Amino acid sequence: MQETPIYRYCGAIHIHTTFSDGTGDLKTIVRAAKKAGLNWIIVTDHNTMDIEEGIFDGVYVIRAEEISPNSQNHYLALGTNSVIYPSDNPQEYVDKVREQGGFGFAAHPDEGFAMDKNGNPVPRKNSHHCIPWTDKNVIPDGVEIWNWFSNWADNLDDSNLLTLAYAFFFKHKNVKNPSVLTLNWWDKLNNDGEKFVPALGGVDAHALLVKDYLIPLYIFPYTVCFKTINNVINLKEPLSKDFEEGKKQILNAVISGNNIIINRHIEKRVPDVYVTNNVSCAFCGENINLDENTKLNIRVNKKSDLRVLLNGKEIYSSITKACSLPLAEKGKYRVEFFRKGRGFAYTNPIVVK
Ligand SMILES: [Zn+2]
Ligand SMILES: [Zn+2]
Repeated sequence: MQETPIYRYCGAIHIHTTFSDGTGDLKTIVRAAKKAGLNWIIVTDHNTMDIEEGIFDGVYVIRAEEISPNSQNHYLALGTNSVIYPSDNPQEYVDKVREQGGFGFAAHPDEGFAMDKNGNPVPRKNSHHCIPWTDKNVIPDGVEIWNWFSNWADNLDDSNLLTLAYAFFFKHKNVKNPSVLTLNWWDKLNNDGEKFVPALGGVDAHALLVKDYLIPLYIFPYTVCFKTINNVINLKEPLSKDFEEGKKQILNAVISGNNIIINRHIEKRVPDVYVTNNVSCAFCGENINLDENTKLNIRVNKKSDLRVLLNGKEIYSSITKACSLPLAEKGKYRVEFFRKGRGFAYTNPIVVK
């Protein structure tokens, strides 16, 4: 069968600027995005939407908000038109985002836990403030399954100089895999009902000047962050030259789960993942009917460890560059890619009905 043509655009989500606690202005972040090869970025300052949006130097800059109470339940609100202020009850702002026609993602939901050698969660080994999504009974529209800055901070061990230096000078190695707690919660949300709960990856870029340690360090310039955890969206049509149209295309792809989350520091080329049957083809975030020829097709740039999950349970794993798996069961299929134990790409589910 004929594959539907797709257009791919790489972007970064979850960015702070001088309008909240970031150190860069619009010009700085556009320059950094351009340098990092990004087509689009979504700016999410804390409790404000003051950044100008538009196409700047070819980069689509989309204004959003990180609804941010002081100590928990941060929420990335996309597609809203005015600032929504935080409150003690996250359900209130989850509802307000929906009332405005927006869509929200629980940010860094399990911040505070690192993974030990066996992949089990252990509390982080530093005393820096962490901000998890504490009320797991409040169901967000989507989940930020991987946050570069949180992941770095969760793996920051400042109990001795060696481990501290490692975190700063090998910062990319200090970012491991998404939290097992978050992946399990995300799978559970998708399994609990008919609802499709999409995932995104965030950079949480601030370009912070850190003064707590021996020397003041700009440890995470925007260009560095922007080359890490990205979202590659699949579009059926090329991105419109008109900003408002293009913005709609990008947001629609992100809230529909038409994105693959990739750590470009490990792999620059996004894997191909799609399901085909006798009549059609479905990408991440799309539905397809089960028939006798339904197959999950996977192709990746270099030999990788890949895991296929059906409704959150692993059904296949292999070290390979490409495979085509016949599917016999309905459900939500997603794929994870690893190299040397480090995850580098996570797809949103494809729904086989
Ligand atoms: Zn946050
Ligand atoms: Zn943030």
